[in-house]
Amino acid sequence: MKNDIALFSDLCDILLTEEKENPVAKPISTNKLLQELDLHLSDAPTLDDDLKNVLADIIKSTPKTASKAFFNQLFGGRMSKATLGDLLAVMLNNSMYTYKVAGPQVGIEKEIINNISKLVGYPENSNGTLAPGGSMTNMMAMLMARDAKRPNIRTEGSKENLIVYTSETSHYSIAKNAAMAGIGKNNVRLVNTNEQGELLVAHLEALINEDLRKGNVPFFVNATAGTTVLGAFDDITAISRTCKLYELWLHVDGAYCGGVIFSQRYKHLAKGVELSDSFSINAHKMLGTPLGCSIIVTKHREQLHHSFSNEADYLYQTDGDDFNLGKTSIQCGRRNDALKLWTLWKSIGTNGLEDLVNKQFKLAEAARDYISNHPDYTLESFDDSISVCFNYKDIPAKELCTKLYKDAQLMVGFGSFRDKEFVRMVTINSVLEKEDILNFFETLEIFAETQMPKLVENAHH
Ligand SMILES: *Cc1c(COP(=O)(O)O)cnc(C)c1O
Repeated sequence: MKNDIALFSDLCDILLTEEKENPVAKPISTNKLLQELDLHLSDAPTLDDDLKNVLADIIKSTPKTASKAFFNQLFGGRMSKATLGDLLAVMLNNSMYTYKVAGPQVGIEKEIINNISKLVGYPENSNGTLAPGGSMTNMMAMLMARDAKRPNIRTEGSKENLIVYTSETSHYSIAKNAAMAGIGKNNVRLVNTNEQGELLVAHLEALINEDLRKGNVPFFVNATAGTTVLGAFDDITAISRTCKLYELWLHVDGAYCGGVIFSQRYKHLAKGVELSDSFSINAHKMLGTPLGCSIIVTKHREQLHHSFSNEADYLYQTDGDDFNLGKTSIQCGRRNDALKLWTLWKSIGTNGLEDLVNKQFKLAEAARDYISNHPDYTLESFDDSISVCFNYKDIPAKELCTKLYKDAQLMVGFGSFRDKEFVRMVTINSVLEKEDILNFFETLEIFAETQMPKLVENAHH
């Protein structure tokens, strides 16, 4: 093992150098992958030196998500103490299902769940769990809501039309989860939004009433704290009133921007979150841990247990259910995803996490300022969002983003809302500073002038 740790350290040196010198890896076209890299597996073993060379080649051409040119996704950067925690979790290799096998790691996970519940404003007796991602924690919320509405559904199944409500700008996992949970995609109602992408409560009520008239069974409303494209925040307080009235489970999907609960300045964006029944947050997005680290908390401690526990004599042999976390998990064997967040949180404190979140909003503000002060740009997104959406000189966003990637200039994606397509620059990457935002625009402008002169020319006429 010691040799491999030394090898690992060498490979990390290569990666860190590459991130600096070639912040965007030159992409390999998919049909040349096997020619350019030695990926094939064979009967014979590979010598360590050869293995090191292959791994170095792979590292060099793998996209760099922690570089200062990565604006592409809702994660990025590297908080080194979180990475340290994740590396330790790999070395320790526990499974989180029992106290017998995970020991104090169980306490670490419980401490995170309790602290997040507290920040949300849930009562003392709340509970929660971790899952690999927001799609899965959203799934757990839907399942708890389903079981809360129809407790017998776990044994009998359902012949009713159970109905889900979520906004047209919410994450696709809601529809996908409805398919997997036996609810059916056609039983997901997409609620209209206003021009900023926020759910319209009047339309939600209209849809609920229509379903009730038809004899359908509404059971679940998903509100989003930070929609995936625009970063919009639904009005949780208003939605919660509707949910109380019709006895519906309210989940807040905070996978993207649920991190605002850490910030005195921005927590107002998720105002009313304590009124929800469950809340999920991806630490691998705003909080900067490595993938994947998603946490769900709920007020309904018994429901979590009711929906996810199963007896298993060969597994649960010591300690109580409170410490055997398999009883509240969607998985059996489960990776320790808590340690990376705990290590980060322990080392920089809640104040440090608050700073991290605030900085992302500050950088987004700097980006919006730049765009507003430069007439070649049009801003397509709104204040209080870390998604900065824009167009430049009417160059089609898709073409601009794809060319920037193929030429190894910048990693940035495009998105759309209603009839508009735009570049979506995200300021979530934890290694970014203000100068990197300015560099982003400079790189984009120089590239457009020199590499896409025809399009720039056309846009002017
Ligand atoms: C990213 C995201 C998800 C999905 O999270 P994964 O960890 O990628 O599964 C869910 N909801 C929203 C709003 C997101 O932005």
